Amino acid sequence: MGHRVTLIPGDGTGPELTEATRRVLEATGVSLDWDVRQAGVEIMEETGTPLPQATLDSVRENGVALKGPITTPIGTGFRSVNVALRHELELYACLRPCKTYAGVRTRYPDVDLVIVRENTEDLYAGIEYEAGSEAAETVITSLNALQPKQIALGSGISVKSISPTASERIIRFAFEYAREKARRQVAVVTKANIMKFTDGLFLSVFRDVAKDFPDIEPREVLVDALCMQLVQRPEEFDVLVLPNLYGDIVSDLTAGLVGGLGVAPGANIGAHAAVFEATHGSAPKYKGLNKVNPTAMILSGMLMLEHLGEREAARRLESAVAAVIAEGGQVTYDLKPSRDDPSAVGTSQFADAIIERLTQQD
Ligand code: NAD
Repeated sequence: MGHRVTLIPGDGTGPELTEATRRVLEATGVSLDWDVRQAGVEIMEETGTPLPQATLDSVRENGVALKGPITTPIGTGFRSVNVALRHELELYACLRPCKTYAGVRTRYPDVDLVIVRENTEDLYAGIEYEAGSEAAETVITSLNALQPKQIALGSGISVKSISPTASERIIRFAFEYAREKARRQVAVVTKANIMKFTDGLFLSVFRDVAKDFPDIEPREVLVDALCMQLVQRPEEFDVLVLPNLYGDIVSDLTAGLVGGLGVAPGANIGAHAAVFEATHGSAPKYKGLNKVNPTAMILSGMLMLEHLGEREAARRLESAVAAVIAEGGQVTYDLKPSRDDPSAVGTSQFADAIIERLTQQD
């Protein structure tokens, strides 16, 4: 029996990307038993929900999913399936390795860092009060009674809360990940000098947890300084652990450093389940065109192999992807010197080239 994995093709370019990834993963020789389940706008039209219960149950049961991007329907009342999955399965850690591969067009040849983003709280917990609503006025009046500094009536309110439990969980995850992957440093990213009771708490938990990992260098960086330092000297960073909002923003920045969305993989991991998916969205304008870059999705599959304990296969897969990108002939338009390069290949042919490399390694 192989590893049983839920495969969610997603929508937009998702199905073609996951199909390319499925073929590549199978070519590593790892035995994978796919449990294909639907989510996204197309299944919503059929069943009335973009995230059917059967899909959620399958991920819960298998504990591992490979997921294509999913469009967030606008104006339907449905929230993002991506956010719902993270919430329902308590996928508290968002992992985004950002590494430069030779052949990718970037100003930064030596980046190899990992973003570990807290996924459940902070300003992104969705605790918000609309300007002018009764709830907002109640919140404002209550807060104004507690402090001399007054919030203007009529303001919109978003709540930032950071707990010791969620902070410790993500910070431990970052240190354990660093130890397992033989990385030298974990940097905590906050604005603790200004937000003393939220970011300050995150920082103080970091200092405590760091004591349990004497083999790993702890580092403290303010998020504004980090942005500048990442642009100037990204090679000086290793593992970064961030609360939700900064993690979201900084991970897009680091994806940009290593060549953009087409090459940025990701994973959302919890205590009982893990969902592997590219950082990018469903790129709906390219749907069905066999055009977009499967690298981010394939490298997410590589992270999944690592998670499944198939380290040797993951290593071989990464080296095959790196070789095809470095060689530069059989790659999609976004990895070519000009975007209308006629020698660019499609999603599926890019995957074929990786499979060929994998076969040559045997
Ligand atoms: P997007 O990432 O889908 O696309 C933005 C642009 O980036 C594309 O038009 C394309 O030019 C480029 N791009 C993206 N992926 C690429 C690839 N693999 N190869 C080459 N170029 C690529 O972002 P968007 O247009 O803001 O979002 C589209 C939909 O996806 C939205 O509904 C959004 O909510 C959703 N989304 C889903 C996820 C997810 O499933 N995890 C993540 C982000 C956005």
